[in-house]
Amino acid sequence: MFLRFFSVFIVWFVLSSTTLLAQYNSWFPTFITNSQKHTTTKPIITRNNIDYVALVELKSLFNFKISFNHKLNGYHYKSNSMSLFFPLNSSEVWINHTRHFFSNPSFFDQSCLYVPLNDLALLMGYSVSKTPSSITFSLNKNQLFSATSSLVSFQELHVDSTLLKFKHIDRIAHLLYKHSRINIKKSLHQVNNILYFDPTAFFSTLGYKVKNTEKAVTLSYNGLTYTIPYNSRIWSLSINNTQAHFLAEAPLIKKDSTAFPFSSLLAFLDYSLAHNYISNSLELLDNIHGIAIQGTTDPFSITILSRHSLLTDFDINASRGLIQLFTIPFSIAYIPKSMIPNQNPYISKISNRSLSFTYEQMHANSKLLGKKQTEITLHLSNKASFYPKKHPNGLFLSQNKILESFSIKETKSFYRITISGFNLDSPHVIKESKKLIFDFNDTISLLDPLKRFENHNFRSIRTSQLSYTPLVSRFILDFNKKIPSYTIEKKKNHYIISFRKEKPTVVAVAKKSAKKSSKWSRSARSSSLRNKVIVLDAGHGGRDPGAVIGRRFYEKKYTLDVVHRVKTLLEKDGAYVILTRSGDHTRSLSRRTRIANRNKGDLFVSVHFNSFRSAKASGSKSFYYKKRDKRLALSIQKQFKKDLPIKSNGVKRSRFYVLRYTRMPAVLIEPLFLSNPKEKKLLSSSSFRHSLATSIFKGIKNYYR
Ligand SMILES: [Zn+2]
Repeated sequence: MFLRFFSVFIVWFVLSSTTLLAQYNSWFPTFITNSQKHTTTKPIITRNNIDYVALVELKSLFNFKISFNHKLNGYHYKSNSMSLFFPLNSSEVWINHTRHFFSNPSFFDQSCLYVPLNDLALLMGYSVSKTPSSITFSLNKNQLFSATSSLVSFQELHVDSTLLKFKHIDRIAHLLYKHSRINIKKSLHQVNNILYFDPTAFFSTLGYKVKNTEKAVTLSYNGLTYTIPYNSRIWSLSINNTQAHFLAEAPLIKKDSTAFPFSSLLAFLDYSLAHNYISNSLELLDNIHGIAIQGTTDPFSITILSRHSLLTDFDINASRGLIQLFTIPFSIAYIPKSMIPNQNPYISKISNRSLSFTYEQMHANSKLLGKKQTEITLHLSNKASFYPKKHPNGLFLSQNKILESFSIKETKSFYRITISGFNLDSPHVIKESKKLIFDFNDTISLLDPLKRFENHNFRSIRTSQLSYTPLVSRFILDFNKKIPSYTIEKKKNHYIISFRKEKPTVVAVAKKSAKKSSKWSRSARSSSLRNKVIVLDAGHGGRDPGAVIGRRFYEKKYTLDVVHRVKTLLEKDGAYVILTRSGDHTRSLSRRTRIANRNKGDLFVSVHFNSFRSAKASGSKSFYYKKRDKRLALSIQKQFKKDLPIKSNGVKRSRFYVLRYTRMPAVLIEPLFLSNPKEKKLLSSSSFRHSLATSIFKGIKNYYR
């Protein structure tokens, strides 16, 4: 799989670098492979910078037998190892009975069929290189990670040593990278304006295997071995027995140790560096070298190429439908801002931009400000979704099945529920009491998570992205009584579930009696949270810990704990609760608000804890932004004042992102200060967290009273 991708990349490079050279009107190069040489008799034709080759020229080069298939109207090329079929007047080519597409259609010239040279070579498993008189076809296997691959180009431009000067070098204490925060106070030295670095202690923390001999330091990682000799400025990188060399700046030799120029180390190991002025730390960034679409027919995949393994947080923007976003923390992209793939049926454009954490994201944690990340956007022209998988060299996005929509049809005696999607496989059906569950494997869900019914047959349809590894989407029918008998049939891209309606008997009577006693029951019922959709947002999570007190006390852990407790209480009262995160997951602020808006939540509660540089700061506070948020903030804050052994600082209007962009009454609460030892101690007791959750729950309930 990956082989092909690398070759796409290489061919792309070859293409872009040789187009000028190839502007000949008639050109008769010699074709060269490992075993054959062939001088062409038909010219290579160049149109719009793309080289086309007469198909017949490949005959002797690859020992093809040619026949014309009249029934299918195309040429059949057959060799020992390969079968190719070229339909006339088409972009199609069939390789070993699988359909692929050329980026540009073939054409006839002087009764010869011409096809795009690079595309064909690539599809056959070769890459091409050119001189003014010849074209060489080489098998892609050997090209993988060769010294000419762009992955091995050293990013000298991006780590110019003259830029690595810091006024207050002694203040820089940490280096940040992904989950690591590494103390570098003793490893950095600045001499004559050059920054030197002792790599031995440091790189093992990043996952490199470090070997230190008398002659050299070697760092191994992802099948790459970097050798940094003490007595030479020529450093070497070896991959699959090929070596690439790098000329470094001179090392700094001290009495008892050697330090290497930091800019050389970064360029050699393929990192960039950013200075975080707020936290006085350095940030190590992965360089992204390319994005490529792999595969020429379904399913496609995309590889984001780096010499390091990349992390991602991804999102599907369902409101705009056909956009998928991937954020890659601690990375910087050295690629064009936007790329347009050739004739891909799903992806019309791939764009990228650099992002930093926003002010709101670091409201409790100033250390986050400025953290660099890359946002990659897939602009989709057709329904598709791509799902990230870890990859030693970058990030691999595979194409997946999608649950797209569902509809309900009601006849006199039947319900018909239609589930539609892209490429769906038969679901796995699970029966639980009153619940019928359908699990779709390898499927992304774009469905509304909840649809409620005032109906005696079934009460709701719930859907969810049950898990990401493995990727499972869940579709649930909630019945009022036991599961009726049902049928499920498949039609193209739909599944249709049908079941017989039950006649309303007992339920109708219950309704009548409810009406009768409405006087006393109304107050009880209206205060109930039954059927309210409450969105609970546990602040921070994943890579964003929120406030960190001491070594282990993370805000993200306690926001999640409290949110789960509130959820239990709300559900007991009949509410539907939606969490913006249910575990230790990274969620962008826009994703949190999107979850709330997409689920048409009735209420949004974001849970945070405050922190301040002075340990004396204390008390609870609730924030609102929109006009209609205020009553909710007041209701919860009033409850805090009543229930908690913490002083109340009242409510305050503030421009928090999650308050501004949610379309329902929303509140952000900070019930206490983590930086206050007394209040922190309270939070670490589970009985306090239970009373806090109860207080939030009562605040929500009172809001509806
Ligand atoms: Zn917070």
